[in-house]
Amino acid sequence: MRPPSVDALARSLADIDLPHPLLVDAARAAIAAGDPGTARSRAESTRRALLGPVVNATGILLHTNLGRAPWPVRDEGGYRNLELDLATGERGSRDTHAAGLLARLCGADDALVVNNGAAAVLLVLRTLAAGLSVVVSRGELVEIGGGFRIPEILAESGAHLVEVGTTNRTRLADYEAAIASADPPVGLVLKVHPSNYRITGFTSSVPVSQLVGLGVPVVVDVGSGLLDATCPWLRGGPPEWLRDEPACRQTLAAGAALITFSGDKLLGGPQAGVVAGSAAMVARCRRQPLARAVRPGGHVLGAVQQLALAYLRNDGDAIPLWRMASVPVEVLRQRAQAIVASVGDPAIVVDTDATMGGGSAPGTVVPSVGVAVPGSVAAELRSAPTPVLARVVDDHTVADLRTVDPSHDDLLAAALKAAVLQ
Ligand SMILES: *Cc1c(COP(=O)(O)O)cnc(C)c1O
Repeated sequence: MRPPSVDALARSLADIDLPHPLLVDAARAAIAAGDPGTARSRAESTRRALLGPVVNATGILLHTNLGRAPWPVRDEGGYRNLELDLATGERGSRDTHAAGLLARLCGADDALVVNNGAAAVLLVLRTLAAGLSVVVSRGELVEIGGGFRIPEILAESGAHLVEVGTTNRTRLADYEAAIASADPPVGLVLKVHPSNYRITGFTSSVPVSQLVGLGVPVVVDVGSGLLDATCPWLRGGPPEWLRDEPACRQTLAAGAALITFSGDKLLGGPQAGVVAGSAAMVARCRRQPLARAVRPGGHVLGAVQQLALAYLRNDGDAIPLWRMASVPVEVLRQRAQAIVASVGDPAIVVDTDATMGGGSAPGTVVPSVGVAVPGSVAAELRSAPTPVLARVVDDHTVADLRTVDPSHDDLLAAALKAAVLQ
């Protein structure tokens, strides 16, 4: 039998939601492999590999592979007053809307929004410390993941790293000695939040309130971006698992000249980075040529503005990360019972430990509830119409409800049901 023509095979796939050239690719690859029958599954794989929504049932609230915080970017796609002052009709600045609101929330004189946390650190170091020494504790020379290493970022910025103290203990006198003898002279002290691991036991580090007495500017990479340690946007106040997270407002109040943090970790927003603090230093960062290379677009700035407005209203329920993090366990249990009733045997309700993840609140757990089925059905769940990501623990697959929006419970139940029937 002659193989079907590429064109006929591609046309037989027309019901798959892909442009014709991609269907042709699938048809051609299937024929080349000598197996035209695989054209449909090839095209479907291409379709599923595109960027799209998934159900996060991992219990990891800030899952880096799933885009960290789930913040909706609502965008009509039209023109906007990105760099236009509507009062005067003159050229304005893209740093006035979202950045101004964030500055207010942090208690900062001024702020600047960039593409991500790494860009914020790089921009600050390049602006304030290129050609100068930067003093960092050996306990804070961290790697954040995805290759963000403090010593490498420092080298990239043109600053000279001066390490002080030891991995577990650094004292004020270590900083004083380094500042007295450094060549080139010290431009700033950098304090980095070791946001994704914890050193316990015989340890000491120097708090910001003491570093600010050293006579050089103190820059703090807060990392995860908890805005305020008192969490005024949460009705119940700060939860126990947040206790060791440094907060933006309190770090600036302790005297830091500048702070940097991510937009999509504990801030709960889109991928972005923030520099906040001294007006003069933020202005220098804004004038740095690199600032242009790391500036976000209007749709991101619009999303950050929405987020900042929710914080100014103390409306934690409007921020999906905080809404999910603060749902009472009993509410999750009721949802789990309903899902188990819908899936039937062999699904059961289980207690779980959710985590913040994404390099935030390391070593702490958020009590949670999930639905477990025997064996590993992770691959079957990933192939559901809306892919579901779950955890496999002790030969069970567990879908943790802490990270699932209630509107997705039906999708999750259907995917679990299909997976256990396979
Ligand atoms: C996450 C993190 C970064 C990097 O931020 P991205 O937004 O991922 O680029 C830098 N420093 C610290 C301390 C962090 O926790």
